[in-house]
Amino acid sequence: MSFSVSTMASLATYIARNKMNPKPEWQKTVNTEYDSSNPFRIVQSHFGNATEKKPHPMINRRFPLVLQLEPLHACNLTCTGCGRIREYESTITQQLSLEQCLKASDECGAPVVAICGGEPMLYGPLPQLVEALIGRGRLVILCTNGMFIAKKLSQFKPNDNFFFNVHLDGMEKNHDIAVEREGVFKLAIEGIRAAKAAGFKVCTNTTVYKETDMDELVEMFDMLKEMKVDGHSISPAYGYSAVNDREIFMTREDILEKFHGFNKKFARFKFNNSPVYLEFLEGDRDLPCTAWGNPTYNIKGWKGPCYLITDAHYNTFEELMTKTPWENYGHGADPRCDHCMVHCGYEPSAAMGINSKWQDAFTYLSWMIK
Ligand code: SF4
Repeated sequence: MSFSVSTMASLATYIARNKMNPKPEWQKTVNTEYDSSNPFRIVQSHFGNATEKKPHPMINRRFPLVLQLEPLHACNLTCTGCGRIREYESTITQQLSLEQCLKASDECGAPVVAICGGEPMLYGPLPQLVEALIGRGRLVILCTNGMFIAKKLSQFKPNDNFFFNVHLDGMEKNHDIAVEREGVFKLAIEGIRAAKAAGFKVCTNTTVYKETDMDELVEMFDMLKEMKVDGHSISPAYGYSAVNDREIFMTREDILEKFHGFNKKFARFKFNNSPVYLEFLEGDRDLPCTAWGNPTYNIKGWKGPCYLITDAHYNTFEELMTKTPWENYGHGADPRCDHCMVHCGYEPSAAMGINSKWQDAFTYLSWMIK
């Protein structure tokens, strides 16, 4: 884990405060009653004994943790697994104003803002956006393909609450295949080196596809460790509707097989994923989807229900929270969710302590000091 102790303490305080005293407006929902004829509406027990029935533990406790802010969808690449350049083709030339971005962050109040896209380094007022979000006390994660870091580094200032998060799906050959262009890996690595040399915090983000060789990822993380990269995120690819290439995506069974033994094999690396989410990927933990914890805002508005599926765009954050029929999503409730184990749906559940065990406090402690 690469975040500072004070950042983690303020995140923990935010979570505790919202669990104890959730904002009532966000808890209005279409159907919060336990429905025994459809246990999956509010019961999400899908490993082991799937007949176990209990109300969803976070029902009437919804709040956002990470805002996925997409100032634009334009990108200099056409990566195989990217749905944005396909789903938002008709608005690809449009972008949010700086004011709209800041208004979205204020409206939602999530303590973490992941600036993504598209390629956010193509967004003109990006340095001002980063600075204004840090000024508002946000932890800012700038998700980038890394190609412009070296060139634009002087526009940013290092800060403990600001991370470049560079997408890397493997070593040079396979990463360049995934992003469909030669030379991307080299530029991304150059960008990471330049950012680290200038005192910036740098993380990486990896998507695991059906073809991903986990040994190659070990080699990649060893290389990044030598470069003193601050931490890594990992998530299985998921075949959501905006991406047609089903061949590269995994079923839930494929994911559990791919991640079997992950925590032992990758123990020497620092992951920003919570240890509970990584247990979930190994099949050792049952978690429900809490997509409301990771809302997405872009040129069309607040995207519901999640980063992956688009059933509606809402004008306000409150509308997203109150009009989305949350109980209709998740494993067993919507067939589109059946194979989803992505971090944007399940990390909030881990962070909110859903299905927690008494040992988790120690697990989290050792993760924080790693
Ligand atoms: S399980 Fe959750 S995050 Fe995954 S596709 Fe369904 S609603 Fe979205």
